[in-house]
Amino acid sequence: MLAGTTEARQLAEAIATTRSSPPIVVTVSFAGRTSKTTPMAGEIRVGGFGGIDGLVAFLRDQRIDAVLDATHPFAAIMPFHAAAACESTNTPLLRLLRPAWDMTQRDRWVRVASLQLAARALRTLGSKHVLLASGRQELAPFAALDDVEFTVRSIEPPDVSGFTHAEVVLERGPFTVESEITLLQRRSIDTIVTKDSGGSATIEKLEAARRLGITVVIVDRPPSPDVATVSTVDEALTWVLEHAGPFEHGVAMPDAPG
Ligand code: NAP
Repeated sequence: MLAGTTEARQLAEAIATTRSSPPIVVTVSFAGRTSKTTPMAGEIRVGGFGGIDGLVAFLRDQRIDAVLDATHPFAAIMPFHAAAACESTNTPLLRLLRPAWDMTQRDRWVRVASLQLAARALRTLGSKHVLLASGRQELAPFAALDDVEFTVRSIEPPDVSGFTHAEVVLERGPFTVESEITLLQRRSIDTIVTKDSGGSATIEKLEAARRLGITVVIVDRPPSPDVATVSTVDEALTWVLEHAGPFEHGVAMPDAPG
């Protein structure tokens, strides 16, 4: 399992608690971007594979039966590497990808294709007090906006040395709508920048923005490879049980003759 999401953790848990004989062994792979990993079921490995060739070698060496790509919707490279490596080793592959967010009539959203275009949108909008909730690793496009007061929220400390005005708020979700409203009001936020991560884990800021009439600049997802894809942990679990060995819904199946 290629991890890095809440769904990956939930799926690893679900597999671990599914009774199957012999048990399904899940290797959970992290890129290693964050210094702490939350405890989770499965055998953990950390670090890149070394491109497609490295992943092909890994799949062969570890005799992997099936690959579950549960990387983040904004992981732009790994899903393509997984698709290529699985194709060349003939390994079944499923992507677990949570649905994108949908705009309602009460939203003021500006959709853009990249963080660079998000920074440009802030200029066009004339934003003055901006909550950057788009991840700590890609802040560079915003540093040049020296007349904007930024509030940079992230789980681990971001590098804001290039910014003229930036307050860092270190917080890990889940958040509540009320706590999001408090933050937005305390910092007089007029615009939020976020990636279209989808799912429910960080959706409260969108509801808070809706209630306060705040503009949200939403960065669209990068392209995804054309592979079998599901959107829920339950669907992924069903697939794993079908593909990760001679199982059928938790019951070991007899070997096929020959
Ligand atoms: P990426 O651009 O798609 O991947 C870059 C490289 O990182 C890959 O080529 C691979 O290195 C390595 N890598 C990525 N995911 C890996 C995994 N699960 N296990 C082992 N190696 C992995 O991905 P990213 O955007 O840097 O994200 C890295 C990780 O953070 C992913 O696991 C993702 O799920 C998680 N994450 C990303 C975001 C985001 O906004 N991008 C947000 C939350 C969580 P090699 O080529 O050497 O194999």
